[in-house]
Amino acid sequence: MSQRALKEGRKGARETQSQKKSTSEMKKAGLVFIPCPGIGHLVSIVEFAKRLIDRDDRFSITILVIKPPSSHPSIDSYTNSFSASYPLIQLIDLPQLHPPNSLELSNSHENYLTLYIESFKPHIKDVLGNLIGSTHSHPNSPRLVGLVLDFLCLSMIDVGNEFGLPSYLFLTSGAACLGLGLYIPTRHDRVSTEFSESDPEFLIPGFINPVPPRVLPSAVFNKDGGYAALLKLGKRLRDTKGIIVNTLLELESHAISSFCDDQTPPIYTVGPLIDAKGEAQNKLGSPWSHSKNNNIMKWLDDQDPLSVVFLCFGSMGIFGAPQLREIAQALERSAHGFLWSIRVPPTTTTQGKAENPEEMLPDGFIERTRGKGMVCGWAPQAEVLAHKAIGGFVSHCGWNSIMESLWNGVPLVTWPMYSEQQLNAFTMVRELGVAVEMRLDYRGGGFGGDVGDLVMADEIERAVSCVMVSDSDVREKVKEIGEKSKKALVEGGSSFNMIGKLMEDMLLNV
Ligand code: UDP
Repeated sequence: MSQRALKEGRKGARETQSQKKSTSEMKKAGLVFIPCPGIGHLVSIVEFAKRLIDRDDRFSITILVIKPPSSHPSIDSYTNSFSASYPLIQLIDLPQLHPPNSLELSNSHENYLTLYIESFKPHIKDVLGNLIGSTHSHPNSPRLVGLVLDFLCLSMIDVGNEFGLPSYLFLTSGAACLGLGLYIPTRHDRVSTEFSESDPEFLIPGFINPVPPRVLPSAVFNKDGGYAALLKLGKRLRDTKGIIVNTLLELESHAISSFCDDQTPPIYTVGPLIDAKGEAQNKLGSPWSHSKNNNIMKWLDDQDPLSVVFLCFGSMGIFGAPQLREIAQALERSAHGFLWSIRVPPTTTTQGKAENPEEMLPDGFIERTRGKGMVCGWAPQAEVLAHKAIGGFVSHCGWNSIMESLWNGVPLVTWPMYSEQQLNAFTMVRELGVAVEMRLDYRGGGFGGDVGDLVMADEIERAVSCVMVSDSDVREKVKEIGEKSKKALVEGGSSFNMIGKLMEDMLLNV
């Protein structure tokens, strides 16, 4: 199926270009995007929306913004800044709803979030009804041709069906992760129970190597709603009209080709979709971190090429003081420069204390490492990774971070923390050879403030020296992928063609 989409995509891209002028009179095609509330989910889906609009002005996009269960100023500032710079994409804020009770949260974050998202169904139904109503009353308004849903929003397929609208999945993670999503219901038909950490390794379609249970997301072991939530979502994958994945064919060709069967919807690899200049992400973070951003970039300008290791753990990667001390020790001992972004636990900021991560570090660390390194809060990550001084990236292996690193040819060190990051780390190290293995199965520091085991300074220092080697195989491989990523997105490239094919498929519904 996906190979078919690829072949036809090449043809489709050309046709789309030539059709663009001749059909400019055609009715516009409206798409409604429903992202999951979370920065890591918003960044790539918003980039995808921009890509469609830039490519073909017959599309009109409305994004329904589900506010996170608890207030999240950085998400508000992200959506505001983006809507100001992209007026062609309409944002509709859904009302703030009461989240499920806190017991659900302590039992399983995934279940809590899917229940919360499902509670928006009546509101989404109202919005869709209004949009369709305006199509009937205003002949020039776009005809809705489909929904584009985040994985955690797949329950909205039902709402789309009520209006006869097809749903497309937009997967903010990679194809390997899709392999697991497709595998969960297949396995469930055989064993009807949660995964167990003591299970033997799994042969999961999409993976070359057997997958050890220790690198699977925590939710698959969760008997209190986590596994059930993933199973329910996994079962909906095949109810979609197409699966759009933020990856590139050249990176995950094995995974993509292993999903070629009659039951799997067409797969469109459209990535890497990254906010390469980090314009929107740079507006996030505290005033403290904003004032530091300029200093960071100036400081990087003064460093030698490939001399600085960057450490950053996504929007939620929080370490306790003992772990911060081990990292500090490793960086102090290391021969390399460093830029270290530290997330501060939310309780520290809501209690009105200074949001200054330097206060959480060992006494004297900042003075002793002055000139050699910098510590910051929210970092301008995309801009940092594009800087010539950056030689390696110690990362929590969130999918956006991986895409941004590969795009810039920067090799990663794996320190996964939450969600599907252990599986991403396994994929990067064992399947694709684009990262240095530090940990594949670390868990902690994400939702609910779990504390992982302590990774000692020696281990961190070793991983940093390894990733900073200037002529390693990993660096060569990553450079190659970086070049392929850029080619994939320009005219004639694999992702460019896939987007063309997808647009054509969507326009058939007008
Ligand atoms: N990010 C950033 N500065 C930070 C931390 C994160 O700009 O200090 C951006 C990063 O560039 C990426 C996104 O936030 O685009 C995080 O997404 P990812 O999927 O890597 O991780 P998540 O936060 O979803 O765990």
